[in-house]
Amino acid sequence: MSMRQRAALLLAAAIWLTACSTAPTPRRLAQDAVTAMGGMENLQSIRTLTMAGGTGTRLRVGQTQKATDAENPAQLKNVAEIADLSNGRASLDYEINLGGFMQHRHEVLTRRGDKPVGIDYVGTRPVIATSPGGLFSWGTQNSPEFLLKRNAVTIALAAAASASDQQPAQDRELNGKMYKYGSGKTKSGEDIGLYFDPQSKLLAGFELLDTETMLGDVQAQYILADYKSVNGITLPHRITIRKGGKDYSDVQYTSIAVNDAEAEKVFAIPDAASAEADQAIAAGDYTPLKLNKVANGVWHAAAYSHHSLIVEFPSWLAIVEAPYTETQTKVLMKLLQQQFPNKPVRYAAVTHHHYDHTGGVRGIAAFGATVLVEKGHEPVLRQILDARHTNPQDELDRRRNAQPAQPTGSMEVFEGKKVISDGGQTLELYAITGNPHVDPKVIAYVPNVRVLFQSDLWSPGPPGAPVAQGSGGPFAEHPLASIRKLNLRIDTMAGGHGGVGPFADFVKGATPPPKATSD
Ligand SMILES: [Zn+2]
Repeated sequence: MSMRQRAALLLAAAIWLTACSTAPTPRRLAQDAVTAMGGMENLQSIRTLTMAGGTGTRLRVGQTQKATDAENPAQLKNVAEIADLSNGRASLDYEINLGGFMQHRHEVLTRRGDKPVGIDYVGTRPVIATSPGGLFSWGTQNSPEFLLKRNAVTIALAAAASASDQQPAQDRELNGKMYKYGSGKTKSGEDIGLYFDPQSKLLAGFELLDTETMLGDVQAQYILADYKSVNGITLPHRITIRKGGKDYSDVQYTSIAVNDAEAEKVFAIPDAASAEADQAIAAGDYTPLKLNKVANGVWHAAAYSHHSLIVEFPSWLAIVEAPYTETQTKVLMKLLQQQFPNKPVRYAAVTHHHYDHTGGVRGIAAFGATVLVEKGHEPVLRQILDARHTNPQDELDRRRNAQPAQPTGSMEVFEGKKVISDGGQTLELYAITGNPHVDPKVIAYVPNVRVLFQSDLWSPGPPGAPVAQGSGGPFAEHPLASIRKLNLRIDTMAGGHGGVGPFADFVKGATPPPKATSD
């Protein structure tokens, strides 16, 4: 190597070193991002964020006909989300259209004094109060609590305080674009990956571990776009969430208001749910739930939206359907222990793989029950049961990973039909196939008392309410034909939705009306 070559090489090395040492650290980039959003003082003065006029999509709703079908996105509109950063409250209000099933839903995490409580306003059903874990959302997130912990302002402030200031930021890709990347911590100490846009200086996205009720631990990415100025604060108006490498939700908001006085109203606990809110706070784990006797040895566990059936055997119990949330399962198990002391739950039967009907399955397995799953539902149920749930940890994960591990229930797969019999009591499970809602669908029959439990196919109305012929539509026509083929003798129909009613009502609702004749 000549002197000249050596000098050139040294010069290049010096330039490279200088470039390296002046490359900004993640801390510096996070502080720049806060400045680009309007400055530390402005961001810290935000009490409430009201994001309104949202339109977009939500996936991972778990409503496919077959367990292995690819999911179509649900459409979200009129999305209005409020994060009350100063009081730890959040609200998700939206309309969802899921392949023609439309519902206006509104889940609120609020507080009475310093105690958190959930309020659920959905469709036409009465408003109810739950403990926070009892909330189940199909909005941009599974629970309003995520909005509090995962919004751009909270994350940007945490990043500016915690991002590493030792190493320079790296180049890393997010959603097809290159950004400056570094790591930091959320306020509660979670590890977080941060992506900064070198041009705008804004926070382009962040990633961290979310524990989803249905998906378990998933690496979640939050992509922040369409930053616009709102009274001197620059905020993202489009938020795209990916979980476990797949699309989750994607919503474009038309407006964001900061410290809007109207925001307060949404967190008021309505009179109709006020006493129940006190009950929820006092109980710790609470969702509305009552055990109603259907017949000898059979109870309908009526919750506020999704119900179960309890079948009593001489020395243990079986549950059909463990829906919605782990909290609902905990409330049910407590009720059962009071009413049937010394009778553990030995079995929990799954009627289908839809997420709203399986959110309590892990909770039941944690109590040691064997989960009975039809082969057609196995792909989804295995994922649900096998997943880790660490942030926060659920009861099943805690027991499995305790030292030494504590016993938990496992999954037993059956095909077509399963009969459980003990001491004169019998529960029969039948998979019916070809239903347009879900295929297969498990129905549960207790022959001693001629009771049939099914969910989503027919919702028995209040006692004595008239039933119009054919009002059940194709969802109901199909199981009626299947039940006739199985030759089951049924007097009473208990619903995973609705109540308990005479089988004759179902027959009427499931029988197509005579075709109108035209001249
Ligand atoms: Zn369903």
